[in-house]
Amino acid sequence: MKKLVVGNWKMHGSRASNAELIQGLLAADLAATAPRAEVAVCPPFVYLADVASALQGSAIALGSQDVSTQTQGAYTGEVSGVMLREIGARYAIVGHSERRSYHAESDQLVADKAKAALAHGLIPIVCVGETLAERESDQTETVVGRQLQAVIDTLGAEVLKVVVAYEPVWAIGTGKTASPEQAQAVHAFLRGVLKAAHADASSVPLLYGGSVKPDNAATLFAQADIDGGLIGGAALKAADFAAIARAA
Ligand code: PEP
Repeated sequence: MKKLVVGNWKMHGSRASNAELIQGLLAADLAATAPRAEVAVCPPFVYLADVASALQGSAIALGSQDVSTQTQGAYTGEVSGVMLREIGARYAIVGHSERRSYHAESDQLVADKAKAALAHGLIPIVCVGETLAERESDQTETVVGRQLQAVIDTLGAEVLKVVVAYEPVWAIGTGKTASPEQAQAVHAFLRGVLKAAHADASSVPLLYGGSVKPDNAATLFAQADIDGGLIGGAALKAADFAAIARAA
């Protein structure tokens, strides 16, 4: 399977710093990695249109960090999949742990967002992951299994069109990366859950996210069920993000 490397810029950046970052990414000539790895970036909503035009004609795809369950209407502050498609987005991250925890997003809401994304032609990147307390009490499989099952139950066979990102909450922005073996074990479990629902689910890309850096990317991406990465902090530095894309 072709690898996928996605940069989540979170609430970082400005017009000036985005322009510099994109210039760095374009200069890194990621087109050379295109046959083996697709690359995408997910800037804050307000910069999506700017970034879309800066990336036009390049090998780098665009994604959003969230999407509404709704299409149009009186939903103050929301952005719909139709709007995101119109400005050129290909992906929409849903259920990032920061949204699950700071915005109380439930498993069902995340699944509904994935459904809305698909309905509008976006590929949802569904994030799942356990907290440190959950890992330490042996709840990892219960938690990520429950988060993924909500998506499977809501999407039916359409789940074969999503991307799943395993992001242990304790590894996000902390500098603590899951070891390749720890990450692979959870990915294999997620693959099993998907396959139990749909025998042909081996085609669903499973990304790992959580303190991926240029120096640990290659070993993570070499694991059997790790099909790429969702990158936070390191996606804000063109040289680091390009090195991670090359590692894929
Ligand atoms: C993320 O938030 O999606 C993430 C993986 O962040 P970081 O790479 O900074 O841990």
